[in-house]
Amino acid sequence: MKSMYRQIQPSMTMGLDQQARELAAAGKDIINLTAGQVDLPMPETGKEAIRRALDANKTFYVPATGSQALKKAVRERMGWQEGELLISAGAKPLLNAAIACICGPGDEVILPAPCYTSYPEMVRLSGGTPIVAPGDPKHDFIVTGEVIEGHITVRTKAVLLNNPVNPTGAVYNHEALRGIIQVCKAHDLYLIADEVYSDFVYDSRFISLYEYPELRERLILVNSASKTYAMAGLRLGYAVAPAPVARAMGAYLSHALGCPCSLSEQAALAVLAMDGSYVDAMKIVFRDRRDKLYDALSKIDVWTVKKSRGAFYLWLNVSQLDDDIRFCQKLLDQEGVALTPGRAFCCPGYVRLAYTKDVSILMEAAARMKRFVERSYSNSCTVNS
Ligand code: PMP
Ligand code: GLU
Repeated sequence: MKSMYRQIQPSMTMGLDQQARELAAAGKDIINLTAGQVDLPMPETGKEAIRRALDANKTFYVPATGSQALKKAVRERMGWQEGELLISAGAKPLLNAAIACICGPGDEVILPAPCYTSYPEMVRLSGGTPIVAPGDPKHDFIVTGEVIEGHITVRTKAVLLNNPVNPTGAVYNHEALRGIIQVCKAHDLYLIADEVYSDFVYDSRFISLYEYPELRERLILVNSASKTYAMAGLRLGYAVAPAPVARAMGAYLSHALGCPCSLSEQAALAVLAMDGSYVDAMKIVFRDRRDKLYDALSKIDVWTVKKSRGAFYLWLNVSQLDDDIRFCQKLLDQEGVALTPGRAFCCPGYVRLAYTKDVSILMEAAARMKRFVERSYSNSCTVNS
């Protein structure tokens, strides 16, 4: 087999989650903080919509890029007045479609890093080359326009920016976004924006890249119901793009995906029409988890941990202690706590914790981690009580 797809690595986040689930199924006492997915129930109204849709036999194909009714609902909920709408099976296929339609063999896409596990492989799936542009740890790894500019070559086609950031939980402010927009304009690049955590910003107002009209002709903006409505398994995402790009993405999706799931479309129609109380309540739960987990982990001063401003991750620097993969493996073997090594996000030396579990479980995880570092790294360890 000569196919370039043989070089593609499976998703490390999904693989580690699977491994932790299998250990738990085999009877091990595992706290799985690998998976970045909301653990709360989806809104009741969405569940009812699925039941009604089933009873009405809505089990047939819908249009390749989603039904008109759902596009209208997304437009209204997201405030996306200009540009063409696309609906698909989650954010992932939309990101793949965007990259495939912009980037051919040999073209480069700049990835501010640390970055979401799938991005480098998504670029490779199109025959492109991922170019990792690392952020400065002293500034929450926020990648400036200047850093991006330093990675541009004649082959650069796009920047793929995730905000809020998985895995660091950092949130880009107006100044940082402006810098990146200016560079994209100056070098005629597309900006692919992944804003799937837009409803998980805890200490400030989230600024979407859609708020910059001067960017619209080069902006492909992706979001999804996975996090906002706890519907990750239902696979429903949406994007807005300039018409020529959207047409190409639609053609890609019609062959690669067929169409979104007809039942998930109905669920999305129902949840998008809700008022903001579900999302507000969820945000309160996640903010509380973040605060408590951060407090517990920051008392253990063998690592540095920054309070995340968005998404649902804490990002620990364990480079003084161990290699990140070895750290995660030892912690899993000895204490049954499953985390994701930074290497999965192009950033060795760090580990990611997803606070996608109840506070009591997170506190138990922190207690186990404290015990683990006291035992395994006693030389470098000072634990404040
Ligand atoms: N982008 C980022 C940054 C993510 O963390 C995730 C979560 N898996 C995705 C995209 C994929 O989202 P979806 O479930 O909508 O495909
Ligand atoms: N967003 C999640 C994560 O980063 C889910 C796994 C995946 O899609 O990669 O863990």
